[in-house]
Amino acid sequence: MQRRNRIGWWLGGLFLPLVALAFATTTLLYHPQTPLPAEWNPTRPLDPTAPSTRITEWKLARAVADPQLCTAALGRIAMPVVTLPPQETDDQCHIRNRVQLSELATARVAALETRCDIALRLAMWEHHGLQPTAQALLGAEITRIHHFGSYSCRTIAGSSRMSQHATANALDISGFDLANGQKIRLRNDWQDTGNTAEFLRSARDSACQWFRMVLSPDYNAAHYDHFHMDQGRWSGCR
Ligand SMILES: [Zn+2]
Repeated sequence: MQRRNRIGWWLGGLFLPLVALAFATTTLLYHPQTPLPAEWNPTRPLDPTAPSTRITEWKLARAVADPQLCTAALGRIAMPVVTLPPQETDDQCHIRNRVQLSELATARVAALETRCDIALRLAMWEHHGLQPTAQALLGAEITRIHHFGSYSCRTIAGSSRMSQHATANALDISGFDLANGQKIRLRNDWQDTGNTAEFLRSARDSACQWFRMVLSPDYNAAHYDHFHMDQGRWSGCR
């Protein structure tokens, strides 16, 4: 009798609730009609246009670690995406997972060759950070993003260390054109005091959500005319 009670306790008190929990979790994660939104579902691939959640960066990191997942995700937000063979200049200078793009979700960019990781982060920054900020502060959408490029086989200025640009693991952004005709350039407008300067600071801050390192004109004189963004080892938002 005592033994049967113990078995009954295990069945009713622990085992059955665990089975029910496992079943509910599996249904929630894997059922095609799950009520869990895809952006909160870790089993669903990254949709770069979906609302950003607490697991978006984790999904993004998983996507950029796999060239095919990365180009698939990029193709959902930026079109057309041209995948190119890797460029191997030497072991310090190369572009791996190389893509070329000229259109983001809304804005255009001058043809940009970079690694898929940087391209996808740029596209997500544009969609989730830049466009909403431009609408809120300047009342217009961004039609063009100006850049100084991604790949450059060189050392960091004033140092013997290789730049993140040597592996196209960085990008320099110099300005924005708006649908209302306004042309914003960091070299001219960073020191402004109105909405344009506020937009540029918000743009810098939102870039920090998508890139590990973001350096603006606030950092030093070498960055007076661009935002430097990279995915190297060090993080910062200055
Ligand atoms: Zn740079």
